[in-house]
Amino acid sequence: MQVNDISRTKSAELYEKAKTYFPGGVNSPVRAFRSVYGTPLFIEKGDGSHLWDADGNEFIDFCGSWGPLILGHNHAAVRENVMRVMQKGMSFGAPTALENELAELILSNNRFIEKLRFVSSGTEAVMSAIRLARGYTKRDKILKFEGCYHGHTDSLLVKAGSGLVTFGETSSAGVPKPFADETVVIALNDEEALQKAFEDFSGQIAAVIIEPVPANNGLLLQTKDYLNYLRELCTLNGTLLIFDEVISGFRVGFEGAAGYYDIKPDIITYGKIIGGGLPVGAYGASAEIMDHISPVGSVYQAGTLSGNPVAMAAGIAQISELLQPGFYDKLNAKTADFVSDIRSHVAEKGYELEVFTIGSIFWFAFTNQVSITRADQIDPESMLKFKAMHRELINRGIYFGPSGYEVGFISAAHTQEDLERTKTAIFDSLEIVFSN
Ligand SMILES: *Cc1c(COP(=O)(O)O)cnc(C)c1O
Repeated sequence: MQVNDISRTKSAELYEKAKTYFPGGVNSPVRAFRSVYGTPLFIEKGDGSHLWDADGNEFIDFCGSWGPLILGHNHAAVRENVMRVMQKGMSFGAPTALENELAELILSNNRFIEKLRFVSSGTEAVMSAIRLARGYTKRDKILKFEGCYHGHTDSLLVKAGSGLVTFGETSSAGVPKPFADETVVIALNDEEALQKAFEDFSGQIAAVIIEPVPANNGLLLQTKDYLNYLRELCTLNGTLLIFDEVISGFRVGFEGAAGYYDIKPDIITYGKIIGGGLPVGAYGASAEIMDHISPVGSVYQAGTLSGNPVAMAAGIAQISELLQPGFYDKLNAKTADFVSDIRSHVAEKGYELEVFTIGSIFWFAFTNQVSITRADQIDPESMLKFKAMHRELINRGIYFGPSGYEVGFISAAHTQEDLERTKTAIFDSLEIVFSN
């Protein structure tokens, strides 16, 4: 069934104004809707699984602020804890009991880290983890994977050149080439390339950084065997293994991907969910590694608003909910049923579409490959189909992140009714996408 485009009059007005204030009208590039149809939607409010834009259009939200909102929007426990704490002041630049409280909740329920430090974003967590690894190993090079995103820190804004093992080429202006030269980039899920990188740069690699659940360039699920092999090679070479769990942490289970695959990295970075919707990041490791950080160690890292009480309050409330018995079983089962119904429909219709999933994450890939583990297996042309689907979904009140390379998230707030309505909207949208 065809439907009309929703009204975006107010959003368009706000966007015109915003373009005079901010480059591209936004404070983070993907928000500009460059790879989907129409004006970016300016959001007015969110409640549970639903969002409302400035024109009063209502959506069921599967972006969840790009991952943090695992309980949905404006969750009562999070809101109330934030309001309670902020009555006592917003920031002191001195320690508070709230930092202990959030650390205790995390560390006593996580087998993989013994100490952590709070920062204010995922980028900052990654940047600090890299410095820690370099300081700890007294080596300079880091190895990353094509198709993993680690925030916008200079040395990680690099992409692979041609060849099995390459120095990174900068993927942003403003990153000096000598920085990129310290970063080695290889493809995901390629044991041979990994082996060769450790041979070519023997004794030089401080750390390997990976999203153990790569979820920023499609959902490029790795095998447990490959991740184990990576762990083994890092250990053999005296290289630290960093799991960037800014998305997967507290998402694929309380202990994130480390727990899911039962693999112990040397350093873990967190962000997104940990802050309950406020700006929080963290990095953690064994006490022995973490004690290389200042003021006890020689690796400097600091933050005026680190461990901010209001942000800690949001994190404490959200993390406490995640520790309720059965939280993840229920959320993951709900997601598995949703994906399974879509897959059955797609199979029946014979559409060229795969839905990849882990935990409460899903990704629509317009392909007939049954497995995608590397960035170069994604056909850029397939994004045209995503773009068409995104428009149809928006018009039917379903909000997916505005790029086909982004994954979707199910939250505890999504009801069976939400998911039934969403499936109907997806089926109607796909019919249109595949009839053109
Ligand atoms: C989002 C993300 C980051 C960056 O976090 P910001 O809070 O946006 O700075 C880093 N790594 C991964 C895996 C992410 O998903």
